[in-house]
Formats: sequence, C-alpha cells, structure tokens
Amino acid sequence: MGLKQALLSSGRFRQVKEGMDLLRILNILLFKRAFAKQPPIFLNIEPTTRCNIRCKICGNREYPEEKKTDLSLIQFKSILRQFPDLKFLCLTGGGEPLLNKDLTAMIRFAKERKVHTGIVSNGTLLNKEMAKEMLETKIDWISFSVDSADKKNFEEIRQGACFGEVIGNIEYFRRQVSRNCLIAKGYAPDISFVFVAMRENIEELPEVIRLAYSIGVKKVFVYKVRASLQGSSSKDDFESGISLKLARAVRVKSISKARELNIDLIFKDFFHARVKKKGCHVPWIASYITSQGYVCPCCVLYDYDMVNFGNVLEEDFSSIWNNQAYKDFRRQFKGNNMPSYCRECTFYRDIYSNINTRFFNFLNICNNFIRAERKPLENADYRRI
Ligand code: SF4
Ligand code: SF4
Repeated sequence: MGLKQALLSSGRFRQVKEGMDLLRILNILLFKRAFAKQPPIFLNIEPTTRCNIRCKICGNREYPEEKKTDLSLIQFKSILRQFPDLKFLCLTGGGEPLLNKDLTAMIRFAKERKVHTGIVSNGTLLNKEMAKEMLETKIDWISFSVDSADKKNFEEIRQGACFGEVIGNIEYFRRQVSRNCLIAKGYAPDISFVFVAMRENIEELPEVIRLAYSIGVKKVFVYKVRASLQGSSSKDDFESGISLKLARAVRVKSISKARELNIDLIFKDFFHARVKKKGCHVPWIASYITSQGYVCPCCVLYDYDMVNFGNVLEEDFSSIWNNQAYKDFRRQFKGNNMPSYCRECTFYRDIYSNINTRFFNFLNICNNFIRAERKPLENADYRRI
C-alpha cells in the first residue's frame, strides 16, 4: 500500500492536504512573487451583468446594453472544471445573480465539486419558489444588501426595490432555513446583511443591526463604497461629509448594539483613519471572471475595459494566471507602484492596516479554509431560532 492510500484509509489524507495547502498560502502571502505557484482558492464568477434595480451606488446603472449579458450553464461548467482545487466561490458580480435562470444549477454543480459557494443578492427576486429551490442547492451562504432600516431611505438608495418586499423575502427565507435545519440534519446556509456605508445612511447602522435581529439574521457586514465606481459617480459623492468623529461614534454605538443583540458585526474597516501598512493579497489567491469570460483582478476591479488578463472562454485559465499581464499587475504591488484604483480600495488600505490585522486576516482565511472542507455546515444558531 502506497503512502497516499495508507493516509486515505486512515482518514488523515484530508488533514495532510489541508495543512500543505495552508503552508502554500502562507508562503504566497509572505513572499508575494510575481509568479503565483498556487491557482486561486477564491473565485468570483459573474452569472450576469443584468440587474432589475438601479442602486445609486452602483456602476451597473451606467452599463451600456452590450455589456449586459448572462453566463450560460455550459460556459460556467467549462470554467469551473478548470479549477479542480477551488475552495470558495462567490457567484456574484456586477448584476443581480438571481436573474440568471441557471443560477441554481450552477450552485448545485459547484456544490457537487465541494466548493464553498454563496451569492450576494438584492433580495427582490427571492420569492417562495426561489427560496425552496435555493435551499435545495445546499448553498453555503447568502448575503443580502440592506443599507437602511428606513423604507424611504432604503428605496432612495436601492432604487426600484420595495423595502417591505425585500425584508419579507429575507425573513421568509430565514424561516425556511430554520425549518429546513431541523429536517436536513443541521444544514443551514449562513445568512447575512451587507451594509454599504455612505453619508446618507451611516447613522442608521445600529438600526440595521436591530432590523437584522428582528428577522433572525445574525450577521452584518459593513463595507465602504467601492473604489471603482464607473461613469459619472465617484466615491466622494457618497463619502464626503462623514467626519472621523461621526464615524467613530457610529462604530461605538453599533458595536454596543450588536453585542446587546448577539449579532456578528464585521467591519471592513470603514472607520480606521490611520493606515500604517498597506498591501493586498488578492492577486495571489483570488480572481474574478466576468459573464463574458474576461479574467479581472477582483470584485472591486471587475470592469474588463479597465483591466483584464485574458478570456477564459478562449484560453485555459492556467495560461492566464501567470501570463505577462498578470505578473506585471502583481509586480506593481511591490514598492508602492500599484494602480491608482487600488490605492483607494478597502482591501489595500485597511485590511492589512497593521501586523495584527494581517495576522488575524490570515487566521480568518485558515478558518474559512478549514470550514469549507467540513460539510454539511453545522449551525447551532439556526436550530435555536
Ligand atoms: S442590486 Fe447590486 S448589481 Fe443591482 S444595481 Fe444594486 S448594487 Fe448594482
Ligand atoms: S487593492 Fe483592491 S482593487 Fe486592487 S487588486 Fe486588491 S482588492 Fe483589487
């Protein structure tokens, strides 16, 4: 019996492989060579660039018609087959994923390949039938964009969405998750809110936390407005006027509210003023594929007219991942020569803001990495609801 078979039969193979993969990731994060030995472990695949609403913070409003396309199921499968060791997949991009009629088939395909899979949705299309279909896919997580607990403000930011309908859909889905969790031996997708902080809503964060609690959602992510807004909008249109004093006061209030209600509140560090150490690990461990097949750097830089490294529907990803353009892009992060659009990015400015957050970020990657290997997801919280 060979060593591999011996490890497999003793059940240790997976742990050994996990350990090796983690060491490789650590090596990548420490040395960041232009040539990336390991293929990405995180992937964004954009099922569609179409959207049914027009959020004021989104570049989708200004997309020309020819850019509004869906990825087909055949294309999706041919792409995913090129990533045999993929760990995490976010099936979301510059559009509403539920508009792609093949979305649930895509999720099922990814889950069959043991990829930890989730979507970010505006929640408008998650009706009862879709909620049932979605649970049947065994999706791992769904994040819903909820930037306000006030109907008027919500509908002003998420133009075209109806506040009551969206919250009703999320609540119904959450209830089905609890019900399903009892039946399906603990399977429960992770449900969260994504709050994009801007001048118009920043003071509402504690109320959004309360809203999450009231409908049984136990996690709230707080993001900044994206660095790469397209068209006539700019980040400053949404952020100017937010003083550090106000931001800190909101942060303190929100943390206290989240503690009181036992909500997991995750800041993508909107509120840190001083950036001591800058950097971004994304070009080494993640990639983004548009619905037209273009390979872009990340979920911030997904406009293929701005930057792309090739098209995965025309050539194999393995020949794109370390082509000259990708390596040149990575090199720019050495010695502070990164592209101007990266300088304003949350990942670049904040996540690696000091050695402690760098270390904890790495621990977080490890934790997610290991959790992705352990299925089905056990979620005691949902069983209690
Ligand atoms: S729901 Fe998402 S894709 Fe659609 S307009 Fe809003 S932010 Fe953009
Ligand atoms: S700094 Fe931001 S925009 Fe640039 S590659 Fe990293 S995640 Fe993408």
